Amino acid sequence: MSRGAFFCLFFHKASRRTGRPKRAGDPPGTGRGEGMAVKFQSVAGMKDILPEETPLWQDLEKVLREVVRSYGYAEIRMPAVESTSLFVRSIGEVTDVVEKEMYTFDDNGDSLSLRPEGTAGCVRACIESGIIHNQERRLWYMGPMFRHERPQKGRYRQFHQFGVEVFGLAGPEIEAELILMIARIWRIFGISDRLTLELNSLGTPEERVAYRASLVDYLRAHQDQLDDDSRRRMETNPLRVLDSKDPGVQEVLSGAPVLSSCFGEETRQRFERLQQILRDAGVPFKINERLVRGLDYYSHTVFEWVTDALGAQSTVCGGGRYDGLVEQLGGHSTPAVGFAIGLERMVLLLKTLEACSAAPAAADVYLCAMGDEAVRRSFILGEQIRSEVPGIRLLTNCAGGAFRKQFRRADQSGAAFALILGESELEQGMVGIKDLRQGTEQRNVPWGEAAAELKNLLGV
Ligand code: ATP
Ligand code: MG
Repeated sequence: MSRGAFFCLFFHKASRRTGRPKRAGDPPGTGRGEGMAVKFQSVAGMKDILPEETPLWQDLEKVLREVVRSYGYAEIRMPAVESTSLFVRSIGEVTDVVEKEMYTFDDNGDSLSLRPEGTAGCVRACIESGIIHNQERRLWYMGPMFRHERPQKGRYRQFHQFGVEVFGLAGPEIEAELILMIARIWRIFGISDRLTLELNSLGTPEERVAYRASLVDYLRAHQDQLDDDSRRRMETNPLRVLDSKDPGVQEVLSGAPVLSSCFGEETRQRFERLQQILRDAGVPFKINERLVRGLDYYSHTVFEWVTDALGAQSTVCGGGRYDGLVEQLGGHSTPAVGFAIGLERMVLLLKTLEACSAAPAAADVYLCAMGDEAVRRSFILGEQIRSEVPGIRLLTNCAGGAFRKQFRRADQSGAAFALILGESELEQGMVGIKDLRQGTEQRNVPWGEAAAELKNLLGV
């Protein structure tokens, strides 16, 4: 049975088991004992992003959108589920992702998988719609990806990627554009000094065939020093042995032939040209001859941005050229290059910055009202102010209570000002305004001037 089939069973068993929620204290996998209080838990490796953290995510997403927009990229949105065979064909049969990380299930005889990455689906969508036929396309996407991995810091079973794919451009210039764009993103967030760009060229498929042969010869001669995984990969996907983390294997590799020794003049020149543009632009990089990346579809340039601030999960962004993939998936031969940033790892990195600790307040203004009539009228006032003050965040007191209690809630909301509508204000056609941070006394303004007054106070 292939590993893909194994996960198919796993997924089915798991979903059949979940007919009843897990209870606190249940041993894993049991499902009896009706009538007790239930406590649901999120699936291992699939985290909630709570309101304390969503402002950081929103900022991050906003900046990413603005940066790619400034380079003229357009958004594409793909489904989270595709045919399993799309991923097997594009990512490659002998890769970690396809061998053991996919969530695969049967859908009335069709094998489907939750997407483990975005490139395959993006290429499928572009071929299917014809939008890359004889034309350049610069695309981006953002969304959740799914991989059945052992959950740990920076490694989850549902995680988010921000990805970019460019079609129809064959030279190193577009690779430079992508790298400059990523460097800009790090700069904007002030994390450039925590990230190192590692660069390598995988050459052409023909050059890799020649290299593969010499690498396999070398590995065979040292096979008793390899671990099981590398011995198996030596036969199926020998280049992947190069990024083994096993120290013994690393030791063996220090004497192995290097890929660049098989490069022809053209590959050498285009790789040099990319490096030249990066040097001109002042983007530092390190050549890592062992960088092969986990997926099969790359050729020529591959790169990763790595950090030592996140423990073992060091790669924050990975990408490269994949000229053969469009044709391999049934399209016309089309040069292509792309990258993906792991957003959870980027968030973890941002959290290492001091400036990013406190979550911003949820509101600017808290609207307090007391008395039946005043509460009803407060909704009209709230709507009017939201229409007249652009961008204002106005929180309405919906829990009743005396003004003293409402002020406490107003204070806890983080709002800078409270609006007050009681019976006496209503009678006089006035609205009270109280500066919650200065602790000054309430002052009243006519109902019709409240919006203008808030604009003034909030500086909008
Ligand atoms: P790793 O070597 O860490 O497993 P990868 O080579 O499998 O990474 P890619 O397929 O290149 O990762 O995905 C691009 C980026 O997506 C990674 O650099 C990382 O930031 C992020 N990523 C990949 N897998 C996960 C995961 N399970 N949880 C969180 N982020 C992930
Ligand atoms: Mg991985």
